[in-house]
Amino acid sequence: MIKEIVQCGHPALHEAARPLSSDEILSNEIQALIETMKNTLRAAPGVGLAAPQIGVSLQLAVIEDQAAYSAAMQPHIRAERERHPVDFHVIINPVLTVLDNTKLFFFEGCLSVKECLRITPRNHKVKVECLNERAEPVTLIAEGWYARILQHEIDHLHGKLYIDFTDERVQIENTLENRQKWINASRDEILKYYQDMTK
Ligand code: ZN
Repeated sequence: MIKEIVQCGHPALHEAARPLSSDEILSNEIQALIETMKNTLRAAPGVGLAAPQIGVSLQLAVIEDQAAYSAAMQPHIRAERERHPVDFHVIINPVLTVLDNTKLFFFEGCLSVKECLRITPRNHKVKVECLNERAEPVTLIAEGWYARILQHEIDHLHGKLYIDFTDERVQIENTLENRQKWINASRDEILKYYQDMTK
């Protein structure tokens, strides 16, 4: 099954989600929800989907960054963005700790804010302590693009969207033309655009 992804303005996207108990995680209902979220994420396609994005206010998100999603990116750009494939996994009740607060500036999008992309500063390295789909404790250490995905998804679980804390002057329309224009932009080019637009 695939669910409709709700858009900015839907109440679930703007409120804190509640944590799940171990018993709930192991229930048929939540196992089915995880399967639906996996299918919905892959159909979109996207690299992350939080339960509030299908209108379910629970602290659960699914993440997967397939190699194909960044295949059009030049290798040196992919390396500069520290973008590596990430296998499908589930994060539940996550607690995020910043390990390196160096800010990286890149355009970011969201399946719940379809019409735009915006340069969004994110911390370089984070630790996430959470439960997996078997209700087992897991510690994730992530850098670069994977760290960005985790920060974005965990923000969703706190009712926060990237457009809530970023500068609208560095927003562009989410068009094929714009995506192609910026996909292989260097870190320096993006930072220069950010600085020029926010002077
Ligand atoms: Zn999002």
